[in-house]
Amino acid sequence: MTHEAVIPASSRKVSAATQAFLEAPQGLRIGSDTDREGSTGTTFDSIDPTTERTLGTIASGSTRDVEDAVAAATKALSAPAWGPASPATRARYLFDLADAVTAHREQLAELETLDMGKPIAQARDDVDGVAAVFRYYGGWPTKLEGSINPVRQPYFGMTQLEPLGVCGAITPWNFPLVMASHKIGPALAAGNTLVLKPAEVSSYSTLLLTDLARGVGLPPGVLNVIPGSGRVVGQAIVDHPDVAKISFTGSTPVGRAILEAGSRHMKKVNVELGGKSANIVFPDADVRAAARGSAEAMWENAGQICVAPTRMFVHEDVYDELVDELARVTGALRIGDPLNPETEVGPLVSKAQYASVREYIDIAGAEGARLRVGGRALDGPGYFVEPTIFTEVHNDMRIAREEVFGPVLTVLRFRTEEEAVALANDSAYDLAAAVWTRDVSRALRMGKALHAGTVWVNTHGRLDPAQSFGGYSKSGNSRELGRESVLSYTRSKAVMIDLSA
Ligand code: NAD
Repeated sequence: MTHEAVIPASSRKVSAATQAFLEAPQGLRIGSDTDREGSTGTTFDSIDPTTERTLGTIASGSTRDVEDAVAAATKALSAPAWGPASPATRARYLFDLADAVTAHREQLAELETLDMGKPIAQARDDVDGVAAVFRYYGGWPTKLEGSINPVRQPYFGMTQLEPLGVCGAITPWNFPLVMASHKIGPALAAGNTLVLKPAEVSSYSTLLLTDLARGVGLPPGVLNVIPGSGRVVGQAIVDHPDVAKISFTGSTPVGRAILEAGSRHMKKVNVELGGKSANIVFPDADVRAAARGSAEAMWENAGQICVAPTRMFVHEDVYDELVDELARVTGALRIGDPLNPETEVGPLVSKAQYASVREYIDIAGAEGARLRVGGRALDGPGYFVEPTIFTEVHNDMRIAREEVFGPVLTVLRFRTEEEAVALANDSAYDLAAAVWTRDVSRALRMGKALHAGTVWVNTHGRLDPAQSFGGYSKSGNSRELGRESVLSYTRSKAVMIDLSA
């Protein structure tokens, strides 16, 4: 593993546009305002996790600001350029936003990389994915059809789809832009308006995205963004009586609290939560491909991915071969400044995350897991932790059960298919799973047997806007992307007409 010394902040080069964006104090995006101060006048600093220096200052929202944003979003619902506008008009906004995202690819990627430490090549991929999500949802406004129903005579029955109204969105820090697009795309395609709160530690890219939406003519109040604390801004969005739906992505404990609060207000609440994904390698797999594919999926974003394949189950016949290859690939990773296009692993997002991951590494050692690769938290500046592999792990160890949300992989051994399924399903989280096998029948059996919202075969972590994504049980109650997501931002209304009248 090579760790390039972190370049001093003064010599890190970003575009003039990114520099200017960071130097300007960033305000709330409410209605037509792009730089509104929060009503309390408070701000927070965003810290670059690579250098531990302040990147810039962002206005912090309050309950009062949420009220203003919801009022702006409510007004926009009936604005001629939005509510009554044709579906083709909504489609045009989304297509134009996709083009604007592509045109600002570098600036969005730089902000993401500086703000949360994601290697720039991965940030660029994220931006491309965001444009694809907006293009996909741009196709939906003109296809949201109702139905004529086979009701008894002499009646005519039909069902039509309506937007829900003002929706609230709360996003996590690990994929700020991608998560925002998963909510903005379907919400706007269905004709809603949105009040969105990004995570405190990575708000910048969502603010620029909102400016791009304004730039393509999205009417004021359709998309409002209020940075700030979860307990203040997030809670105020959840509690606001005029917000019809909450779409939350984040940790399981916060998601549970939001579900409880939302149900008190009879809101629709969709939660996308934590994961501890199983990754099973059968003896008939292409072992090198399995090792490389798993490493790529595991170390992306320094392991800070809800679907990261953190629990690897390897058949005893290929265990040594697979672990050797995995250790070799992992040991060759380049850790360093995420702005360097050669970097494969950047820092963790924050000091708190760094401390939490270090603690889990200590816990794994104390539980008796065997350290195979990595294990060191690197000296600062920057919140760097080496990609770390533990072998000889048992499924009842904390390291195998709790979401670490960092670059820590556990490898377990199995003998039979039944044992692999039982181990994989013995988890509180059911977000995703992967299987590596050349046997089609086995792949199909696994697709049925594994408790997970997504099962990948001979690949990992691939999302597509056309395919829904989400978890079971403690990993969530909903689906993002695809048809399911856009429908979740609508409600149906039945109309019945007496034809004999
Ligand atoms: P988090 O739960 O701490 O915070 C998520 C968001 O909720 C942030 O914007 C935060 O400010 C806000 N928030 C915090 N307390 C709140 C409250 N009381 N009321 C309203 N909002 C509140 O999660 P995180 O640390 O930002 O993100 C990491 C977690 O997200 C991991 O558990 C990861 O698995 C999960 N995640 C899940 C998915 C998925 O699709 N299932 C995707 C990405 C991340």
